[in-house]
Amino acid sequence: MNFDFSEEQNILRETVRGFAETEIAPHVMKWDEAQYFPIELVPKLAELGMMGAIVPQELGGSGLSYIEYVIVIEEISRVDGSIGLFLAAHNSLCANHIFIAGTEEQKSRLLPDLAAGRKIGAWGLTEAGAGSDAGGTQTTAVRDGKFYVLNGSKNFITNASMADTFVLMAVTDREAGNKGISAFVIERGTAGFSSGKKENKLGLRASDTASITLEDCRISKDNLLGQEGRGFIDSLRVLDGGRISIAALAVGMAQGAYEASLRYAKERKQFGRPIAEFQAIQFKLADMATEIEAARLLTLKAADLKQKGARTTKESSVAKLFSGEVAVRVANEAVQIHGGYGFIKDFPVEKFYRDVKLCTIGEGTSEIQRMVIARQILR
Ligand SMILES: Cc1cc2nc3c(=O)[nH]c(=O)nc-3n(C[C@H](O)[C@H](O)[C@H](O)COP(=O)(O)OP(=O)(O)OC[C@H]3O[C@@H](n4cnc5c(N)ncnc54)[C@H](O)[C@@H]3O)c2cc1C
Repeated sequence: MNFDFSEEQNILRETVRGFAETEIAPHVMKWDEAQYFPIELVPKLAELGMMGAIVPQELGGSGLSYIEYVIVIEEISRVDGSIGLFLAAHNSLCANHIFIAGTEEQKSRLLPDLAAGRKIGAWGLTEAGAGSDAGGTQTTAVRDGKFYVLNGSKNFITNASMADTFVLMAVTDREAGNKGISAFVIERGTAGFSSGKKENKLGLRASDTASITLEDCRISKDNLLGQEGRGFIDSLRVLDGGRISIAALAVGMAQGAYEASLRYAKERKQFGRPIAEFQAIQFKLADMATEIEAARLLTLKAADLKQKGARTTKESSVAKLFSGEVAVRVANEAVQIHGGYGFIKDFPVEKFYRDVKLCTIGEGTSEIQRMVIARQILR
């Protein structure tokens, strides 16, 4: 067992941190207020290799390990979770689904553009009536000679109103239940495809979340991703990786909220001394530091196992459940430490408080994570 990061990993952390502090931090509140996703940041993210973080180098990616991917998402989210979520959906959902299920032709056709940031990716499983119960997918894909014709809609899809390449799940055989759901790649511009308006959200407001509508959307049969009927099963594999990135998103935002609180507690004086000298505040900071450390270790453990090729269904859910709930607790205490100033937008913890809630909902709610973990430990 080795708890040390390598020199390269430390350099990666410093590089991403420097980038986030310079290119993102000065604009975070402006983007949040305007609900604006900074599309102009994408070429810079691509230059740093973040758009193809876990795509192998031979397909134009950076070929980072899962541990390194966690470092990237954590450091970006420490400054702005909206950009962290953008990267998570693009990399570990869209690109990774293509990578794990696609044919060689599909991988070499689609991944280099995604990895270079020439195209933005999105991934759609959720529908209005199929959230936690994703097997209840209603969108259909009917084979018609060399084509599939898709009809239906997707809800709450990250990057949907600006993405170019979509991986979407649709029912190809209603009788077969979960084994009748398939994955398809659809490019923006395909007739019958449209994305809806951006959702007006509680938090992560710069992140683009929108619906997708498919109306007699005709795509080549070559756009079936993986085998027919394997889309739901592959989605669960994709989510095993995705949940690690949401855990990293949570750890990053919790770290950001904690650091802001530590600074503030040393500066803010009441009763003639810094509030950091009061034991009540010290205990909050101690609990925050302890929980963040535990969340980070669980996340890295899941990432390490994933990197080694092990199945991480339980570990990914454990990391996502714990880290998401830690982020909510930490952001809550961060606002408390700031008192009234935590309630106003001049201080960063107000935004963290709103943003972290997504971590107990996206890529499976905390209740669903508990169900996944229970299923694994009771096997
Ligand atoms: C900002 C944002 C970004 C998102 N991005 C994407 C994306 O890119 N792609 C995508 O496909 N989806 C995305 N989602 C959707 C997200 O994964 C779902 O919102 C989530 O899985 C929950 O589904 P739901 O919202 O329909 O809630 P529901 O499933 O309706 O759940 C409502 C409540 O009931 C509970 N519940 C449901 N079933 C059970 C059960 N069996 N036992 C106990 N409790 C239960 C839930 O835990 C929750 O508390 C995103 C959502 C948000 C908010």
